Amino acid sequence: MERTGGCACGAIRFCITGELLGTGACHCSDCQKMAGGGPNYVALVPKGVLAVTQGEPKLYQTKGDSGDDVARAFCPECGTPLWSIPRHAPFMTIKAGAFDDTQDLGPRMHIYVSSAPPWHAIPPDLPAFQKMPPAHPSEP
Ligand SMILES: [Zn+2]
Ligand SMILES: [Zn+2]
Repeated sequence: MERTGGCACGAIRFCITGELLGTGACHCSDCQKMAGGGPNYVALVPKGVLAVTQGEPKLYQTKGDSGDDVARAFCPECGTPLWSIPRHAPFMTIKAGAFDDTQDLGPRMHIYVSSAPPWHAIPPDLPAFQKMPPAHPSEP
């Protein structure tokens, strides 16, 4: 299966192949900045399945709440956040909104809810974790 996506202005285009590992909403403070205040809706994919087919995203290097180095990719023209690559994890996350078709990308879990402001909606029927899920691959 192939999914395509890109930024708001169209300068960056990408595609991924294969199945998603999962979807989620991250409420960490970095994600709130990137998302403009809301949680960050992401799809989890293995590293190596993403191909940039047009343009060159800019990388913002930072440290995630996990302590790992994280490269956050965004379009240098329009600023759309695109994906994040934790250096030491076997996976990366792609913003749900970066995909052309977002219909099936609803979050299956909420993470870092300990950082969520009281007005973030966290539905009671989904798993919610204070930080990362315990079995998460990046958890030491
Ligand atoms: Zn753009
Ligand atoms: Zn986050």
